[in-house]
Amino acid sequence: MSKNKKLGLNTICAHIGEVKDEQFKGAISPIYLSSSYEYLDVDVKRYPRYFNTPNQEFLAKKIAALENTETAMIFGSGMAAISTMFLAFLKQGDHLVVQNTLYGGTVNFIKEEFPKYGIDYTFTNGYKLEDFEAAIKSNTKLIHIETPSNPLLTITDIKAVAKFAKSKGILTSIDNTFASPVNQKPMDLGIDMVMHSATKYFGGHSDICAGAVASSAENIERIWNVGKNLGGSLSDMTVWMLERSMKTLGLRVKTQTKNAKKLAKWLNNHPKVSKVYYPGLKSHPEHQLAKLQMSGYGAMLSFELIDSLDSQQFQKQLKLIKSSMSLAGIESTMISPHLTSHALLTQKERDNVGISNQLIRFSVGIEEIKDLKRDINQAIGKLKE
Ligand SMILES: *Cc1c(COP(=O)(O)O)cnc(C)c1O
Repeated sequence: MSKNKKLGLNTICAHIGEVKDEQFKGAISPIYLSSSYEYLDVDVKRYPRYFNTPNQEFLAKKIAALENTETAMIFGSGMAAISTMFLAFLKQGDHLVVQNTLYGGTVNFIKEEFPKYGIDYTFTNGYKLEDFEAAIKSNTKLIHIETPSNPLLTITDIKAVAKFAKSKGILTSIDNTFASPVNQKPMDLGIDMVMHSATKYFGGHSDICAGAVASSAENIERIWNVGKNLGGSLSDMTVWMLERSMKTLGLRVKTQTKNAKKLAKWLNNHPKVSKVYYPGLKSHPEHQLAKLQMSGYGAMLSFELIDSLDSQQFQKQLKLIKSSMSLAGIESTMISPHLTSHALLTQKERDNVGISNQLIRFSVGIEEIKDLKRDINQAIGKLKE
């Protein structure tokens, strides 16, 4: 499609990938729950584990349209998406480069499973281009990045890493979960494959576990060949729910992003807050880079209360904002990374990567900003210094 014919964000969210209801002309996609389809004289042999039931196939079109790729695949979880993608492009003797600020589940997958397959890997010392340059080897087949990172929201230069990898004949993939395609389109910056935990912003209501990979038809075919063996497909019931959720992806994430930007500024000037991590703040070390490669700064931020305030007591006093494990729902949630995602590290290891016991990760929801501010202030007001 030529550029001026391309549909806008909310139109894609609302309409692309609808399954037409030919029989009754209903307004929304019918749900096809069949796990068994005709096989004689058909173009496609359909089966849920082949990722090609009508609902699976059509929702993939919406995700591909959002990420500007030829095609996409829907998975049963973000980890099913990432593990299938890695195993499609890495075999015994190959080497993967990932940054040291990678999502914890992906770190566990690499450390626990890769040795069984004889796949080599390197965690970078940082998230800058030179860290990736230093980490590659002659057998490096894939560089996988994550930006903004969890929970400190560091920003990796997507274009620079993609260009460097291309010059070395290395494929690139990105975990675009935190930004979502509403705020960042990595394919336009040269990345080969984009994956998502659809459990987060795609689902957006904290009631779905799913994943996705978007890429060229050629790459997706390689992933499909492994995916049908690993079997990480998503049930059509959940695919249908995910389609419904994704119709409001643009509306939700834009509202959440706007709220996060306002709250980051407010927290940054708050007398009881010592530090705020948000790429939209001018004080963020990679603010200019974020401005260049993101269309919005995202709805995730982290902050630290001043040392005399207990960050667990603070979370217990919140009335509106929940302390909750996951992220990206329409409801605002907070979490202490040192008790969750980074609990298995030693204090020293956490100090090295900048995760203090005061650090709180804030997944900003769609609530009215004044209510969120009031909740934070009333919780702080109940604490003893
Ligand atoms: C949650 C998450 C994942 C894993 O997704 P699941 O759906 O839980 O399997 C991967 N990457 C990031 C950045 C995540 O937040």
